[in-house]
Amino acid sequence: MEIVAQRPKSLRDVQFTYCPGCLHGVAHRLIAETMDEYGIRDNTMGIAPVGCSVFAYKFFDCDMAQAAHGRAPAVATGMKRARPDMVVFAYQGDGDLAAIGTAEIVHAANRGENITVFFVNNAIYGMTGGQMAPTTLPNMKTTTSPYGRDVNDIGYPIRVSELLNTLEAPYYIERVSLLSVPDTIKAKQAVKKALKYNIEGKGFTFVEFISTCPTNWGIDPNKSKDWAKENMLPYFKLGCFRDKEKDNGGK
Ligand code: SF4
Ligand code: MG
Repeated sequence: MEIVAQRPKSLRDVQFTYCPGCLHGVAHRLIAETMDEYGIRDNTMGIAPVGCSVFAYKFFDCDMAQAAHGRAPAVATGMKRARPDMVVFAYQGDGDLAAIGTAEIVHAANRGENITVFFVNNAIYGMTGGQMAPTTLPNMKTTTSPYGRDVNDIGYPIRVSELLNTLEAPYYIERVSLLSVPDTIKAKQAVKKALKYNIEGKGFTFVEFISTCPTNWGIDPNKSKDWAKENMLPYFKLGCFRDKEKDNGGK
């Protein structure tokens, strides 16, 4: 039986620029499917980052803008405040969000901006050639840490979801993974929740996807998922850190 996957309307019919086996495409699909399901494509503004997903503005079929490196949450803030009737989301990787964009994500979350930030964490800078990121694991080798990340010298990897969970304002924060089918189904639920709260005007929502970078890790795509399960998940634990709807008695 031939299985034909339908392209969500919220994704354009253009070829991704991602490496074969990269999971950015899966994250895009989950977001696009959710936009279709909520019927918000004509009323949504996405902000593309700098990094491998820099061309997200070519892939999502909604209004899109391109932010300078790390500034997507600041641009999203401006867009949302100018057009409060629109659903606004930012899409960022870990090099973009957790390094040069640290101030933007922390302050947008702290202000409780009514935006959604989708954060793809693969523990490395992808587009620029596999450099160490703030999320690179202890002892993990990258092009700028060829002997492994030395935490005594460089510090420990930043757990962004936990960091944002220390703030009062965020409405919803969850870390999911794209490393298996069951986890991807759970990831879709998180995307749906985040955008639902966004549509309802509840406040700042954040979904972190644990992902892979087969190219810069030098591991084939399927083994990359196993590597991430064994090495990333113990450090970046999956789960919902914040759901004010539940805290208020909702489901
Ligand atoms: Fe994906 Fe890594 Fe290739 Fe970037 S460099 S597209 S994260 S596999
Ligand atoms: Mg990255």
